[in-house]
Amino acid sequence: MGASKAVRKGGKTALSQSIRRLEEYEHWKRSVFLRDRFTCQHCGARNGRKRVIEADHIKSFSSLLAEHGIDSIGKAKECLELWEVSNGRTLCHTCHQKTDSYPRNFVDKPKKKKRNARKKEGI
Ligand SMILES: [Zn+2]
Repeated sequence: MGASKAVRKGGKTALSQSIRRLEEYEHWKRSVFLRDRFTCQHCGARNGRKRVIEADHIKSFSSLLAEHGIDSIGKAKECLELWEVSNGRTLCHTCHQKTDSYPRNFVDKPKKKKRNARKKEGI
């Protein structure tokens, strides 16, 4: 084996973004959705036109990366805990955003600041 250098700039954020593009990630997400029947585990919303569901890592991605010392895609693929379906849950986009583990780098740049808080949600 020759010397293989993996110089990555951008650090952990770039790595976790690359991991999210992996086939393994897609597979994991799908398994979580199937187990939860495409239903948000917080509010019970189902995937549909108005609701977009997402897969959330209960134990956050970044802490898993740190814990296992994952600094490359190869290590990520080998880390079974990362792909543990029991560590995933289905949330709709709205509920997902409210979690602490929501990946901030997923959020689109806010176009405008919303100053006035919305009125109470009428349920
Ligand atoms: Zn929800």
